[in-house]
Amino acid sequence: MFTEKVLQLKYHNLKMLRICRVMAFMAFSLAAVMPFMPYSSAIYILVFVVLTVSTILVTFSLIQAFVGQRNATLYAIGRIALLVGCIMTGLLYLGLLKLNIAPHVPTMIGLTCEVIIMAGVLALRYNDERKAKFKIQQQALEQARRIKEAREEALIAESENSEKLEQMIQERTLELEITLRELNEANQKLTEQNTIDSLTGVKNRSAFDRRLVAEGRISRRQQTPMALLMVDIDKFKDINDKFGHLTGDYTIKIIAQMLNEYLKRPTDLVSRFGGEEFAIILPSTEAEGALQVAEQIRQAISESKIVHNDNHIPLTISIGVSADIIDSDEHPMLLLEQADKALYQAKRSGRNKVCYYTQEADQI
Ligand code: GH3
Ligand code: MG
Ligand code: MG
Repeated sequence: MFTEKVLQLKYHNLKMLRICRVMAFMAFSLAAVMPFMPYSSAIYILVFVVLTVSTILVTFSLIQAFVGQRNATLYAIGRIALLVGCIMTGLLYLGLLKLNIAPHVPTMIGLTCEVIIMAGVLALRYNDERKAKFKIQQQALEQARRIKEAREEALIAESENSEKLEQMIQERTLELEITLRELNEANQKLTEQNTIDSLTGVKNRSAFDRRLVAEGRISRRQQTPMALLMVDIDKFKDINDKFGHLTGDYTIKIIAQMLNEYLKRPTDLVSRFGGEEFAIILPSTEAEGALQVAEQIRQAISESKIVHNDNHIPLTISIGVSADIIDSDEHPMLLLEQADKALYQAKRSGRNKVCYYTQEADQI
């Protein structure tokens, strides 16, 4: 059993391991039986078994030593020493060898040698195991260090990545904000353009309609009067017929410019209502003021000398005026109708006139 452990047969040679165990079993059986046997026969069996077993064990250790096991060499030496001692003792007991020493002495010497060598073997094995343990510990430490390094590298990479990602997000957000701002500006321009009449550059009909509703609400809330002027160029068909449509267009543009020039308040709104008609909103203006403005404009245009392609264009306008404090949602439209009616009154009464809407005149 001891040989099996020292030679580590479990790892190196299973056949030898099995033989060792069989021999150990036989040795135990013999130890149990022998006390009941006669000494004369027991001694022969014992000597034979010990010699056989020792020879086998020496052979095993020599084979393992030959294969290259370091402990096996020392163990073989120890075993040989014991075997030689045992052989000599056996020969002395059997009277086959005559020496001047007690028969058990060679066995004792052999045994001593074996014990010393075994102690050496044990020390070596202990040392080997200690070294192996130390090596495993070192390897474990090294592995732990490598794992730690890998983890730290991963953490650094992760933080670098998240920094890069953040930077990228910031850049993209900035780009997006700039694009959004540009888009907003373009949108504003587009909306602005949608409210402008392309021929004259003043506000168009849809801008007028929206503004009429908005100013109506202000007038109603603040209880301030609001005035509307409907402007129509007199005998415009004749201008078109006489000077051509391009001159007609030019005339419409000139009238739009002059209307704009005469209205100085930032809240006043000039719009092209359609064809050669313009509608003007004068917020916070009562009838008297609106009539004054309308008269000024009419006079200025009738006195102006408009020339296009060397043609002097005689130009007058008629203006219908209405004004009131708005008191309902429908009132602004009513005011517009009234201004329109006043305009036709002006036309009826000879053109180049300003007319203010009155209910009496309407009824007539
Ligand atoms: P009144 O004094 O009664 O207003 O006479 P008028 O000739 O001006 O009559 P009306 O308002 O009915 O005719 C307007 C004409 O204006 C009809 C159309 O040929 C012309 N017109 C409308 N829009 C334009 C335009 O954008 N350019 C030009 N050149 N002419 C236009
Ligand atoms: Mg007209
Ligand atoms: Mg006209």
